[in-house]
Formats: sequence, structure tokens, C-alpha cells
Amino acid sequence: MTVLLFHEDSYRTSFIATVTARKGNQVVLDQTAFYAEAGGQNADQGFFVWEDQRIPVTDVQKADGQVWHTLTGDIVPEVGAYVHGEVDWSLRYQHMQRHSGEHLLAQAFLRVNPEFKVQAVSMRSHECTLDLSGNPTEEDARTAEQVIMRSIYRNLPFQTTWVTGAELKQYPLRRPPQVEGRIRLVCVMDRMDRTGYWEVSACGGTHVNRTGEVGAVFITKLEKVAGGLTRVFFVTGHEAYQLLTQIYRDARTLASSFSTSVEKLAERVEGLRTEALEKGRKLNAAYEALSESLLSGKSGVQVVPLADSEMLKPFSKVATAQPDLLCVAYTPDGRVVVTSSTKASAKEVLAEILKNAQGKGGGKPDLAQGSAPFEFLERAIHLWREGATT
Ligand SMILES: [Zn+2]
Repeated sequence: MTVLLFHEDSYRTSFIATVTARKGNQVVLDQTAFYAEAGGQNADQGFFVWEDQRIPVTDVQKADGQVWHTLTGDIVPEVGAYVHGEVDWSLRYQHMQRHSGEHLLAQAFLRVNPEFKVQAVSMRSHECTLDLSGNPTEEDARTAEQVIMRSIYRNLPFQTTWVTGAELKQYPLRRPPQVEGRIRLVCVMDRMDRTGYWEVSACGGTHVNRTGEVGAVFITKLEKVAGGLTRVFFVTGHEAYQLLTQIYRDARTLASSFSTSVEKLAERVEGLRTEALEKGRKLNAAYEALSESLLSGKSGVQVVPLADSEMLKPFSKVATAQPDLLCVAYTPDGRVVVTSSTKASAKEVLAEILKNAQGKGGGKPDLAQGSAPFEFLERAIHLWREGATT
């Protein structure tokens, strides 16, 4: 069995080991500081250095009770060789912050409401997830964030300890362990709590030494998922800092383009939205008035080219309301509307035009719409008109 050095020290990134097995470009060592993908935490990456080689380790997986390190290329150390392992520290620390943040978040939700229990975890990208039972709301999420931030400010120590199944009951475990035999407990110590613990759970992952190193936990959104669960998306540590500062800078650029401040951006956007809706209503009314004047006193078959496809809807409304009118309107972007208040079916007229224009569309006897390449459409409309008026 490979000795897992990260179980004793998550901060260890350098070690010497002996190769005990190899298979293709995969290698097993007698001891390793590389974390194999498990429990929703990504595998470590880094390098193996031996003789005059320095080869990247791109993946680490557990299989048949062994830890297999995958090397790039086909240069692989022999069984019995000594290698110097180097774990990519920035990636490892990112995983430690995510994983420690996940423990704090799970405990915080439990403190908000004992019904909020973790059913699944993923920390595979910067936006991590917890699936919770008990239907937490946005308000619960904000309360949980406050609980976490207080634990971060208190800079509580993380401690790991190995226990037997019989010893487990002495600990206020957050949820029953998923393994048997000797169990590794990850505890956040709290002298202010009567139990002496802020959080305890069984876990084989890598964590920071103190809650302060998590830096921050920010819940980005909640989503309902299968099984009646709520997926909590969150960012932690340096990734939370990067995400939130980037969003702030983007918001500031946007606000300055609207000549306002970040604080007043939402108000400004709401104002613009109201303004745009009002302009849309005015434009629609103007197009209806224009349509009425275009169709004033017209009846029978009419073909009307329109300059703007925005006008098709108000025009159709006016045209369908006008008695004894079969009207074809079209726009330079290849859209066409047929209206009929005569015995002729707008749907059939449109079908005939589109057949000659390689277009598509459909509708009802009084109103049909479609689209086609403009040059074909215009010709097909004129062809139809000649047929309809002779
Ligand atoms: Zn953990």
C-alpha cells in the first residue's frame, strides 16, 4: 500500500519515493504526496524528477487499491528507481481552499436548519457545488454565508485524527462516514462550543490549517435539481477573490459607459429598460398610424413593400382589420406577411409565394407569415400578383 503523505501534511509538496509498479505511462510509488481524484476533489498535478528527467504528472487515480500516477509521453522510471515528486502547489492550494470551504459551507447550512443535509459534492471547477436536501432559500444561503464568514474571521484550526468505528460516537459528526475500519476525521476546533468542535466529518481530502485561509465563501446561485434537492453553487478562497473582483471591474466599466456609479448601475439599467419599453410602444403606435395611412381606402389585392421588419406586426394588425383586403407585405430582410379579410386564404397565398421563393412559413386563413431570400421573394410576389390580377 502506498503511504499517503498528504494525510499527515496537506502542505507537503516535495518527497522522495521508490517506484513499486509501472504499466504503460502509469506508475505506483511506495509513498506519495499526490492526491488521487476522489470525493469530488480533482487529482493533483506536478512533476517526477529522476536522473536527468523532469516529466509532468497529469493525472492521479486510485485503481485496485493502488495510486497510479500518469506521466506525459513514454519516458517512465523503472521499478525500483528513486523519484523526486513535486506537487503543483498553486493547484493543490486551490483544491485545499475549495475543500475546506465546502466543509464550512455544509456545516453552516446545517446550523441554519438541521434539515439542510449534504447529498453530493463537486469541486471540479472554480464553481463548486453542494446538493442539499430540505429546500434552502436565497435567504438561508445569505444566512449560511454570514455563519461561514464568522468562522473564517475566528481563524479556527483544522485538525485531522484517525479513529475506529467504536470511537466515532465521541464526535459530533455532521454525517455518517461512507467508509469502515480506521476513519480519518477532519475537525474544525472551537473552544467556545461545548463539544469543542465547530465541525467534524469523515474525509480523506486535503484541507488548510486554519479557517482564515479559506478567505471567503460566496454562494453564486441555488438551483433545483433531480431528487428534490437544491444545488448550491459556490466559490471560495483565491478563486472567490478573482471572480468577484473581475465582476466588480466589469461592472465599473459598464457603469462608467452609462456615466453612473456601480452602486447606481441597477437603477440606471432599470431606467433604460423602462425607456426602451416606452419607445417601443411609441414606435408601434407610429407604425400603426403609418399603416393606416398606407392602406387608407385600399381594398382588393395589394402588395406593400415595407422598409423595416419591426413594422410587420403593427401593419398586419391594421391590414387584417381592413375589410375586403388581400394584402402581401414584405421587408428587405426577406420576411413576408399575408393578411386576408376576403374569401382567399392568406395561408394558401403565402404557400404559393414561398413555393416559388424557396422559403418557409405558415399561418391561418386571415394571417400567415414566412421568410425567404429577398431576391427570390420579391420575384415570387410579383409572379403571384400577376396571376392574381389577370
Ligand atoms: Zn474534506
